Amino acid sequence: MLTQEDILRLRADFPILNEKIHGKPLVYLDNAATTQKPVNVVNTIVSHYYNANANIHRGVHFLSQKATEAHEQARQEIADFIGAKNSNEIIFTRGTTEAINLAATSFGEKFCSQGDEIVLSQMEHHSNIVPWQLLAERKKLKINVIPISEQGELDLNYLKNILNEKTKIVAVAHVSNVLGTINNVKKIVEIAHERCIPVLLDGAQAIPHISLNVSGLDADFYVFSAHKIYGPTGIGILFGKEKFLEQMPPYQGGGEMISKVTFEKTTYSGLPFKFEAGTPDFIGSTAFAAALKYVQTIGIEQIEQYENELLKYATEKILEIPEVKIYGNSKEKSAVLSFNVGKIHHYDIGVLLDQQGVAVRTGHHCAQPLMDFYKIAGTVRASFAFYNTFEEIDFFIAALKKAVKMLS
Ligand code: PMP
Repeated sequence: MLTQEDILRLRADFPILNEKIHGKPLVYLDNAATTQKPVNVVNTIVSHYYNANANIHRGVHFLSQKATEAHEQARQEIADFIGAKNSNEIIFTRGTTEAINLAATSFGEKFCSQGDEIVLSQMEHHSNIVPWQLLAERKKLKINVIPISEQGELDLNYLKNILNEKTKIVAVAHVSNVLGTINNVKKIVEIAHERCIPVLLDGAQAIPHISLNVSGLDADFYVFSAHKIYGPTGIGILFGKEKFLEQMPPYQGGGEMISKVTFEKTTYSGLPFKFEAGTPDFIGSTAFAAALKYVQTIGIEQIEQYENELLKYATEKILEIPEVKIYGNSKEKSAVLSFNVGKIHHYDIGVLLDQQGVAVRTGHHCAQPLMDFYKIAGTVRASFAFYNTFEEIDFFIAALKKAVKMLS
């Protein structure tokens, strides 16, 4: 396992972790919202702007070809990282949200018609609800919702029973951004595939924490954002199996995605360019690949193991505080700790933690249906990354105790 010495060495790659907030050392526990960026990612952005900036594809000049190569190399490295068979199956998007909008719009256009059904779950982020609702309104579809237990685990028997010949897709989170639940996505894919129904997995919260192989999982679509895995903001991917992407219509029109344009008829490029209208974020893509390389040098299994220990420790410590209620107690859980303390408002706790330099997130975490299930307005959420230390957890718990005392 990563030792505290390893962690201190790795922390040096993240200059922001030395910041002082209100005169106190920063304890950054908002990693589920976005992760901090290591020096190699920031340097990749800088060096590509300084040395390799030219618009990509179709350029005959040297710099354009260099930038194109870097962008396509990044696509290949992302494909390798997630175990995709073919880099054509990696579509660059602005992030998870745009990837789901793309999938819902384009898949829905091709495969869904009035009366068809889509399956989501109670624990979805709004990004994996609203795009499907927009589609459902447009096409008059029904949305079925997999319920969860009090612990925050999906009811897979319900899923088995609800699937029918009208079900066109199942779209669920791999890991919940509120509960930390690691869903049994292998089983979900198996259940859906028994009925030949494709599955989209929202991997926004899984990608920085657990090793992924989309081919092994047999996922049909998988989406995530670079900024959740130490990469830049504004870029992410939709992985889709070629057999679906080939049949799906373009999501946006413009340059890059065409083969031939006339006013009478336009034909489109092949994969992946059919879905990538306009100048892509070719600087972001290289920084994205640099982030994945960084994670690979540490080892995702090592990260997972260390974060599990952090979560275990934080959970034990927080439960020492009277009236703490943790939301999300599934057997398989990732590095997220959502909680409330008695009747204290989550926002007040967040403010008092911030004053002590501890950054957590408060609110509904873009999961209002999940808040409705627990009959709460929101939670405090501490979320961990491998650069967090046990000492920081101690500091967080001490700060929380102080906040609770002041608010009680
Ligand atoms: N799904 C989940 C589970 C998330 O946690 C998030 C980010 N909070 C998203 C989707 C949306 O990601 P983005 O804002 O990067 O598009």
